[in-house]
Amino acid sequence: MKKLLVILISFMAVGNGFGQIPPVNLKCEYLANPMGIDIQKPRFSWLFKGIPNAKGEAQQSYQILVSSSKAKIAFDEGDMWSSGREGSNKTTWIEYKGTPLEAKKRYYWKVRTYNQSGVFSPWSEDAWFEMGMLKKTDWQAQWIGVAGTEGKPPKAVELNKEFTSPKPIKQARVYITGLGAYQLKINGKKVGQDLLTPGWTHYLKTIHYQTYDITPYLKQGQNEARVDLGNVWWSSGLGWQSGFRYSDGPNRLLCQFEIEYTDGTKDIINSDESWKGRLSAITENSLYHGESYDARLEGKGDWKPVVILTNTKDKTTMYNTDKIAIAEGDEYFSTALATLKASNSSMIQEQEDIQALSVKQVKPNVYVYDFGQNMVGFTQLKITGKEGTILTLKYAELLHPDGTVAQENLRKAKATDQYILKGGAEEQWQPMFTYHGFRYVEVSGGKPKLTAKVIHNQAKVTGKFACSEELINKIYKNVTWGQRGNMHSVPTDCPQRDERLGWMGDAQIFAPTASYSMDMSGFFAKWTKDITDSQHSTGYVYDVNPKIVVDGPSKPGWGDAILAVPFAMYRFYGDTRILAENYEGMKAWVEYMNNHKSTKETGLYFFGEGGWHGYGDWVPVDKSPTKPIGGAYQAYSNKLLGEIAAILEKETDAKNYTALSKKYAEKFQEIYFNKTTNQYEGATQSANLLPLNMGITPPDLQKTVAQNITDNVIAKGNHLSTGFLGTGYLLPTLSNNGQHELAYKVATQRSYPSWGYMIDQGATTMWELWNSDKERPDQMNSRNHFAYGSVGEWFYSHLLGIMPNAPGFKSVIIAPKPAGNLTWVEGSYESVNGLIEVRWDNKGGKFTLKITVPANTTAKVILPSMNKVNPLVHEGINPLFKNGKKFSNAQGVTFVELQNNNETVWNVTSGKYEFSVE
Ligand code: BGC
Repeated sequence: MKKLLVILISFMAVGNGFGQIPPVNLKCEYLANPMGIDIQKPRFSWLFKGIPNAKGEAQQSYQILVSSSKAKIAFDEGDMWSSGREGSNKTTWIEYKGTPLEAKKRYYWKVRTYNQSGVFSPWSEDAWFEMGMLKKTDWQAQWIGVAGTEGKPPKAVELNKEFTSPKPIKQARVYITGLGAYQLKINGKKVGQDLLTPGWTHYLKTIHYQTYDITPYLKQGQNEARVDLGNVWWSSGLGWQSGFRYSDGPNRLLCQFEIEYTDGTKDIINSDESWKGRLSAITENSLYHGESYDARLEGKGDWKPVVILTNTKDKTTMYNTDKIAIAEGDEYFSTALATLKASNSSMIQEQEDIQALSVKQVKPNVYVYDFGQNMVGFTQLKITGKEGTILTLKYAELLHPDGTVAQENLRKAKATDQYILKGGAEEQWQPMFTYHGFRYVEVSGGKPKLTAKVIHNQAKVTGKFACSEELINKIYKNVTWGQRGNMHSVPTDCPQRDERLGWMGDAQIFAPTASYSMDMSGFFAKWTKDITDSQHSTGYVYDVNPKIVVDGPSKPGWGDAILAVPFAMYRFYGDTRILAENYEGMKAWVEYMNNHKSTKETGLYFFGEGGWHGYGDWVPVDKSPTKPIGGAYQAYSNKLLGEIAAILEKETDAKNYTALSKKYAEKFQEIYFNKTTNQYEGATQSANLLPLNMGITPPDLQKTVAQNITDNVIAKGNHLSTGFLGTGYLLPTLSNNGQHELAYKVATQRSYPSWGYMIDQGATTMWELWNSDKERPDQMNSRNHFAYGSVGEWFYSHLLGIMPNAPGFKSVIIAPKPAGNLTWVEGSYESVNGLIEVRWDNKGGKFTLKITVPANTTAKVILPSMNKVNPLVHEGINPLFKNGKKFSNAQGVTFVELQNNNETVWNVTSGKYEFSVE
């Protein structure tokens, strides 16, 4: 019987006409109704609600109003800005172009849109944004601290201010920061949800502050502000030598309370000499080693006057492992030299509580709690007991055979909290200035009730992924736990040992996966600023940012994060400002490579002498030569810079760097490609993957190089052998080169090396090494490194089949690829342009695809070829396409072409669709 390929397209009509639906989800910069914006041209975004009635609804133009008051916005009076009717289908990152905004003022805004027929929507609901401090002089507060609390690390202190608010309060704000970190309580209640504030930045240049609405915390009459100060990133001692500190203290606070009364008058309470300070009950605190708390000391200790620390010059130990300052100007830290900036994106917060699966006694009065998941945060304890009882909590990812916790792989990090009971009623405690990476907690001295608290930077979950293969689901779960474990102010390599640094290579290879599963736009924009803040005056960047401990220049594949990460933000979110603001930094790094002395030798950049050319394809199964990696990334970064220049309309640079990237690519071919064997130097998977994916391999050789990779994988019994740099490219490369089934076999492999192997050995997140179970138990061997989680990108792009086709998914490619035993895949991606949904089923020879394409966007749908015959394409009973000929189009769906073995390509407008292929 002749098999037929049938594509059925059905339609669903839901909701009201688009023209009548007001825009929703109004965002200013990275947040809805943000407070403390310090950008003169904040950007606006919105979305459309639900699914449009008719297909292909699009925004033809928009109008934005920004008003200085609620009353004015209610009367449609855009006294600050009225955009007029702007003919554009853009709904994201639209820059404010009105009257200059004032510090500390709240502005209201709304938007309406016109559809393609000129029908306009009602105005959206009002949204607002509130400005923070804009100039140095907006700050009247002084940096204060407690004298005599310096140290390695400094002592935690508490600061106190009592004040009277004599009249009924209309509203109140606090603008606050602290070093190393602060926690503010007003009248005994913690203000806001944020933890470890103000977060980590390159403190020598930039210190973040936060803004909170404290109206609900204050009362008319007597009020008390209490601030705890601890060390965290600033003064704990960081790096594997644990010796790096921005300062030896004292820890310090800067805050300004602005209280407005109902009668229009105002009180400003600043941190100044009128505050009091004393040692706190936190007797020790360090990011790596943990926190000790003696509840018997609560509220004890004499208050002393504080000292002013605004103009102090602190000796930093911004040194490398040889104790040499890692760049000029790094010897001193001064709050007077650093710029105060609003933290315009979300901070670390508690995300989830996890209860122990089991509690086992391992020795007399020693208990091990197993939370069943390797996670990041700390535990909250509850206990009733005798005064002076000491509880010691040791955190670990692993257990010894005798059931006690194994902390060897934390190297010098002690990861130990201690709590001394005050006695009496039930006591509750959790640390304030540390976090741990752990699955197990060993408690000696008692058996408290413990709840694990997962903490990381707040970010919206944007991706959902599930499929019929349980192993893939487990891998995906581990990918997301790896991500959640390493979003702590900066993208860290790992969360548990004496490291936890913003390693560039790790971040650039994981950024696309991260951006599918969560909204990373604000997080990575902040971190990119850390990179350029830390950049050396000669143009090179550092391996970890904020830079500490590791000397520059950054190594190939690591330094290039300065381009790769912002470019990923552009692809996923359409953010061009991140490109513009960091352009000079990117260019300086590329110029540094292009003019490096090594280029005189071979014509290409390479790093290091004596055979050491950087980290290479870090911790692989098969080592690839490291020298070519410098040249590959040089060509790639020149290419990215050319593209970025074009986006920013810098025509000369665009031409120049595109030409240079071609030149370097040719040079690379000449030096590192062996024409006899048709292999790149080293002949490993990664040695072939990098040039093939970085625009280096010439078109006529791409098939050959792809075949090298396929052959290598097959020769290894369908196993990968890649390290950090190659892994993310492997599966997409196989899938894009006719080897999707092989990619699936590698993805679902259970023997070493594979993701399945890790899982079968009990991994609940991503390991640092493919063989973490075997190697170096007491050295570099984290069980929570997101780098190998880069496989997550392929789950979204090739299994679910969602890929950006234009920045911010204004256009999306939906190209699901059935493979192996998969009977269904379901998921979604909440893009800045709306929710994209995909569900496919592949059962009994029938492939069904259900999709949602958001309003004002388009999709390119590529349907898999189920049979290698001429397709017969139906809309209902009307044939659209038969025996290689187009008959007609369906509404919202346009046939584009037939490609690779009868895959059909369709342009689709917004709406819900169902296709089926038999
Ligand atoms: C980190 C890595 C990092 C590497 C660079 C390690 O110590 O944990 O993830 O990229 O060093 O070689």
